[in-house]
Amino acid sequence: MSIQQEIDKRRTFGIISHPDAGKTTLTEKLLLFGGAIQEAGAVKNNKIKKGATSDFMEIERQRGISVATSVLAFIYKDKKINILDTPGHKDFAEDTFRTLSAVDSVIVVIDVAKGVEEQTEKLVEVCRMRKIPIIVFINKLDREGKDAFDLLDEVEQKLGLRVTPLSFPIGMGYDFKGIYNIWEKNINLFTGENKQTISEAIHFEDVNNPELENYIGETAAETLREELELVYEVYPEFNREAYLNSELQPVFFGSALNNFGVRELLNCFVEIAPSPLPKMSDERLVEPNENKFSGFVFKIHANMDPKHRDRLAFIKIVSGVFKRNTPYLHVRLDKKLKFSSPNAFFAEKKQIVDESFPGDIVGLHDTGNFKIGDTLTAGEKLNYKGVPSFSPEHFRYINNADPMKSKQLRKGINQLMDEGVAQLFTLDLNGRQIIGTVGALQYEVIQYRLEHEYGAKCSYENLNVHKACWVEVENEKDPEFLDFKRVKQKFLARDKENKLVFLADSSFSLQMTQQKYPNIKFHFTSEF
Ligand code: GDP
Repeated sequence: MSIQQEIDKRRTFGIISHPDAGKTTLTEKLLLFGGAIQEAGAVKNNKIKKGATSDFMEIERQRGISVATSVLAFIYKDKKINILDTPGHKDFAEDTFRTLSAVDSVIVVIDVAKGVEEQTEKLVEVCRMRKIPIIVFINKLDREGKDAFDLLDEVEQKLGLRVTPLSFPIGMGYDFKGIYNIWEKNINLFTGENKQTISEAIHFEDVNNPELENYIGETAAETLREELELVYEVYPEFNREAYLNSELQPVFFGSALNNFGVRELLNCFVEIAPSPLPKMSDERLVEPNENKFSGFVFKIHANMDPKHRDRLAFIKIVSGVFKRNTPYLHVRLDKKLKFSSPNAFFAEKKQIVDESFPGDIVGLHDTGNFKIGDTLTAGEKLNYKGVPSFSPEHFRYINNADPMKSKQLRKGINQLMDEGVAQLFTLDLNGRQIIGTVGALQYEVIQYRLEHEYGAKCSYENLNVHKACWVEVENEKDPEFLDFKRVKQKFLARDKENKLVFLADSSFSLQMTQQKYPNIKFHFTSEF
């Protein structure tokens, strides 16, 4: 098969949702369709339970599971589908943001009763910024929930999307009868008492066909006709170009638990979702069908086994064919590396592969060479853009609690930061180190891992920081900038890349600073 055919076959995407909306259940049903797993319950729920903050077993358990579910691949209708796992827990949002740099599209799962939740808003905002094509799946239709039109409004308003339903529910909750598939113009109905069995799809080119009554009854048929009329009137017709440009988002309804509406979603997904896209590097746009391999690291996973310190770096292949035992250039280190046992992922297993193609993810064993965002190529000096850091929400000083182990502590901190567990800032004034995280849970993870993996002990000290802002200035000699550096000396730090960061202690002081120094730009992400 030619490389172009391999590319056309691939669909690499992520499922995002607020915890409990049904991401795990949907993932599992998708894998069942692909024949990649035989039974329900095979995909472990990769989430940290509420109140697990101090339960280290839970943290370890979660780390074990998340390597297993990092990438789930299956074949459906001749397409190779790669699902990249995105943790729903908000303390791991940074992980999810980074994973979004490696997907070509996403499916957003929304709970019909809860509607658009906070975590979903944040994640979709990132997708919109990056113009990632989005399909929305409204889940749990077997339960009482919000009215379908109200939900569509909510999705448009809260998520800033422009939607068009491609399926529509017939009833809901107790009265949930099935789904009208607008995309394929057919109806799928539940049969049997407990909504367990699904009928064969019944084709209805025109819902005005009086046959409809025979299947769903007079009232439901009447309602469906009215609702569909409204759908066609109010919502734009589906247009693939607009979907791919992130200007239009198709919506499906269903119940993942009952496997209802999932096939409709998947059939449409394989048809419309993009195959691997070109990616911008600092140097140029790289096309997937170029001959030469290139890819970038979007995730690093530490080994669970304390006897094997090596880690698994997850590479998204952007162009060319990745081959086993072939020397590739690690651009940042300007060093050639060869990989004898690259892992590919299939269903919930990993296996060694000889070749991988654009859109695929390979896991490379690493002894400390990789950082998140690193680029690997066949020789060209490329640097892929787009694995930015966001301003953390929490900040604490990190102190060495065992002076005999300062070397271990330094190594541990460096490696954990390379993995992207948290962000490190070093104060300009006195060199003190500050750890910034998205959630409080990470502090416990770091402390635990430093002790168990590196034999180092740390303690934390509170520190009052509202936001970290990356500072940009055109001219470093600008008197305004020099004044800023003098006045705000106490609040200036460097990130891992030695970029200047202003640690504002309150939103008020940030505002005042912005006003006082109009020549300086303050960014909330590390890439601008
Ligand atoms: P995640 O946190 O988004 O991965 O959500 P899960 O897939 O773990 O689902 C959360 C809970 O909702 C579980 O108890 C599921 O059994 C349940 N659930 C998922 N899909 C449905 C559905 O379609 N209907 C109903 N009634 N429950 C569902």
